[in-house]
Amino acid sequence: MPGSRRSPLLRTRNSVDAAVAPLDAGPVDVLLEQAIAPVMRDLVRSGIAPPRLLDYDWLDDTAVASAMLHTPDGAGTGITVSRLATEAEQVAWVADAVQEAVIDYLMPTGPNNWPPCPLHPRNHPLLAAVHDEAAVWECPKTGSRVAAIGAV
Ligand SMILES: [Zn+2]
Repeated sequence: MPGSRRSPLLRTRNSVDAAVAPLDAGPVDVLLEQAIAPVMRDLVRSGIAPPRLLDYDWLDDTAVASAMLHTPDGAGTGITVSRLATEAEQVAWVADAVQEAVIDYLMPTGPNNWPPCPLHPRNHPLLAAVHDEAAVWECPKTGSRVAAIGAV
């Protein structure tokens, strides 16, 4: 998929064949649900349909929670979060994965820079990062913190 930037927090985001993921699986790991909630709030506030998070523990690793993220265009992507990361790292990590999936799905018809950088709205989206133990959206060019993830 597009060669967008990768957060250094991301160490295991793998593409998983959506065809192997059951669509009516059980409840999603609570850690992933909690970590993804802020970026989902940002999407809804932006008027963008959030992807569906579906249970499918495709990664056989007790230190990592995994599930499938399905965007409205039918694409499925594996998403993970480390149980060993801090809460802020988990939120930023998952926000980055959701951002990439959303940008991929919006690109053919809509904006491809969500969330847009207010300093450079035509140039790039904001970058999910951790500063002072808080998950934030920052300008990737200047490093300026723009908003908490979940408060865009
Ligand atoms: Zn910027």
